[in-house]
Amino acid sequence: MTTQGFSPEFELIARHFTRPAANAVLGVGDDAALITITNGMDLAVSTDTMVSGTHFFSDVNPENLGHKALAVNLSDMAAMGALPYWTVLALTLPNVDHGWLAAFAKGFFDLAEEFNVSLVGGDTTRGPLSLTVTIMGEVPAGAALRRGGARVGNDVWVSGNIGDAALAVAHRHGKVVLEEADYHEAVMRLYEPTPRVALGQALRGLATAAIDVSDGLLADLTHICRLSGVGATVELERVPVSGIGAKHLGTEAGRTAIVAGGDDYELCFTANPNSRESIDDLTNMLGIPLTRIGQIKRGKGVSLVGADGKAVKVDGRGYDHFQPQS
Ligand code: ADP
Ligand code: MG
Repeated sequence: MTTQGFSPEFELIARHFTRPAANAVLGVGDDAALITITNGMDLAVSTDTMVSGTHFFSDVNPENLGHKALAVNLSDMAAMGALPYWTVLALTLPNVDHGWLAAFAKGFFDLAEEFNVSLVGGDTTRGPLSLTVTIMGEVPAGAALRRGGARVGNDVWVSGNIGDAALAVAHRHGKVVLEEADYHEAVMRLYEPTPRVALGQALRGLATAAIDVSDGLLADLTHICRLSGVGATVELERVPVSGIGAKHLGTEAGRTAIVAGGDDYELCFTANPNSRESIDDLTNMLGIPLTRIGQIKRGKGVSLVGADGKAVKVDGRGYDHFQPQS
């Protein structure tokens, strides 16, 4: 492609970010995209920004970054029980590096295709590397999974296993030491999380509240508790971990990474105990382990307890760290 007659910005967009937008009336190229919403559906909208040094290491592989920028947004749709269709990408780049952009676009579009999501627009500016993805999806009116629906006596569940991504970060920060092979496996969980979109859909009508685990299991469950006006206990022994996680549960730093570290993008949700069988069925239907890790209680905040019911310390400050501020 020639840049003659076109600004470098236009060429960049044409070369890397213009693909047919199957789900849209009008995609990239005009002043705005046009989309049609299905009757009887609510539009679910979410946005996430990732800043170099804050949300990813500056040496991140651009293909991993493209995947992650979209994956964290798909995960927000999953946590609402919404089906994602449309996405918008705002890119701030320090310089134009076509090799980097091609790899980033590959990571982004490979995942977009897997989930049948169209990139319908965006913005491109120069500055310190930062990416903002906005995602839109549909959910039957009134059926979205919200954070505020947890009730006393509900079970607390989590999908998949928790902690590998945070263990990789803790390793990079010298707080835990992972074996080399374990680090390589764990860091892929950090860079290429699997958004639980099908699970979110399946949980409509079953989960009373849901959130995706981005800030950390205990912190994210605390968000559910705050908005639902309840408390929760989580039993450490029940928290599902990978083979890597199992090696680090015994140390306080490892434990802290697992229950308080983030970036897993699993779903944490609450449900009435009479939904246990239906939820177990989902494990087989979707091939995703779903584990009951605790209970919703009266009160405030989240307590992490051992098998003996006593509070387990994480981060040297104990579970109080996860009590709401006021
Ligand atoms: P405007 O000046 O109206 O903001 P732009 O020149 O920024 O338009 O963008 C031109 C078109 O390219 C628009 O349709 C916009 O949505 C799209 N676009 C810009 N940057 C990106 C990007 N990084 N990814 C996808 N689409 C983009
Ligand atoms: Mg613009």
